Amino acid sequence: MHPGCRPVKMSAVVQRLLKARTVFNALKQHRACMSAAPDPIRQPDIKYAKLFINNEFVDAASGRTFQTINPATGEAICDVAEGDKADVDRAVNAAREAFRLGSPWRRLDASERGRLLNRLADLIERDAGYIASLETLDNGKPYQVAFAADLQLVQKCYRYYAGWANKYHGKTIPIDGDFFTYTRHEPVGVCGQIIPWNFPLLMQAWKLGPALAMGNVVVMKTAEQTPLSALYVAQLAKEAGFPPGVINIVSGFGPTAGAAIAEHMDVDKVAFTGSTEVGKLIPQMAGRSNLKRVTLELGGKSPNIILADANMAEAVEQAHFSLFFNQGQCCCAGTRTFVEEKVYDEFVERSVERAKNRTVGNPFDNVEQGPQVDEEQMGKILSLIDSGRKEGATLCVGGNRVGDRGYFVEPTVFKDVKDNMKIAREEIFGPVMQILKFKNVDELIERANDSEYGLAAGVMSQDIDRVMYIANSLRAGTVWVNCFDVFDAGAPFGGYKMSGNGRELGEYSLELYTEVKTVTMKLLQKNS
Ligand code: ADP
Repeated sequence: MHPGCRPVKMSAVVQRLLKARTVFNALKQHRACMSAAPDPIRQPDIKYAKLFINNEFVDAASGRTFQTINPATGEAICDVAEGDKADVDRAVNAAREAFRLGSPWRRLDASERGRLLNRLADLIERDAGYIASLETLDNGKPYQVAFAADLQLVQKCYRYYAGWANKYHGKTIPIDGDFFTYTRHEPVGVCGQIIPWNFPLLMQAWKLGPALAMGNVVVMKTAEQTPLSALYVAQLAKEAGFPPGVINIVSGFGPTAGAAIAEHMDVDKVAFTGSTEVGKLIPQMAGRSNLKRVTLELGGKSPNIILADANMAEAVEQAHFSLFFNQGQCCCAGTRTFVEEKVYDEFVERSVERAKNRTVGNPFDNVEQGPQVDEEQMGKILSLIDSGRKEGATLCVGGNRVGDRGYFVEPTVFKDVKDNMKIAREEIFGPVMQILKFKNVDELIERANDSEYGLAAGVMSQDIDRVMYIANSLRAGTVWVNCFDVFDAGAPFGGYKMSGNGRELGEYSLELYTEVKTVTMKLLQKNS
């Protein structure tokens, strides 16, 4: 244990998550040094709700604002400045100026960029209780989870990329003739980054971390449902010492602010995380403007495969969390639970019991599940549940809204799900589990791969031969074996097929935030 750290008392929710071999397992080894979650701030002060441009909080040029809603109550939290094209222009100008040759940012040593990122992580750590409370208020995720998962992963992500700032370098290449050739990894320039609402702080970290480490400047658009935590982090970045214009945050809506970024002639790259539907539009916008580089992290319909030899208790717990984690609002959620015939009935029965025991309620209390992010998402989930019923899947538990205040949905489990049903093909993005039956592995692989998506997959089994065969055969960017949702800043994440292109996290993401420059110099005479 680190000197000065005290043993941690974990909440029941976090302990259950640890058992589920999820993302929390990755944090487990560090838990002795993780500070226990302080009490939540149930009504956190909203300190920043304007656009963050050139290190200042400013009103939108139009003067317009929009309300951000507390999904647990349906009530407005506050008004937020609503950026649009004019504000994106301002932000891009500020970023371009910060990227000018000879600017303070361009002249900063690479190791100093790393120091700033580490300092940002320190400040997030200092204010973690407040920031997690803000995230819970705006997004609805349980505070215990926001603190133990999101906030820890966010800090680790910034620290990880702090380390890379001065380590991602070029090569010397022995080309033919009297020449000296080397490559330089240079920043791409002004990076537009459009992020979703399901992990607002973490998606901000995944995007800012590698971009800033490599010396880029950023214009970020947060999701209209969850603008608040990113603005607070922007202020911390200023406090950490990032120069004006390096990080700009424009809150606002997709078709206005988001599209203005994707279509901007002076934005060099756009990185987008969100729905496949919008993801299809981004390259079109890039193509009809300046052919900016595009990376996409989109939807999923991930298979989670339970073989008959798997430990049943662990499989039930893992499958439960792979689906219900974050209110089911994960692009990689294990939404098609394929269970081998021999153990199907037992698995269904135990999964239904587990879903019945899931605690749902005020996300500031010690619960496993809070509300969905907004009314629109809740409506979409309920209508997909309806389609499951109509198409003949058996609803074992749940299926309804919880109460009439806020956007809560009952943990829901369907059995007898067939591959062609809408609930087995479309992303539900809610607490709705589909359990499908399979007979043999080859049939399973074909069915698991029969999806337009290819983001992630899970396999539960002790049979190493079958595990390796399945893991190698799945067309998915990540395969978790005997675990699920184990994220680490070092492990790349991204999709095959319509789940996107490019990889975030790890060394792989650095490629997407750098241009390779080849420099070839003529030598005076050939070496002998
Ligand atoms: P979801 O359906 O999960 O809300 P979206 O793909 O709609 O996902 O949203 C993800 C992000 O993309 C959000 O920041 C949103 O505002 C933005 N967005 C939505 N529509 C567009 C668009 N036409 N152009 C650019 N960004 C958009």
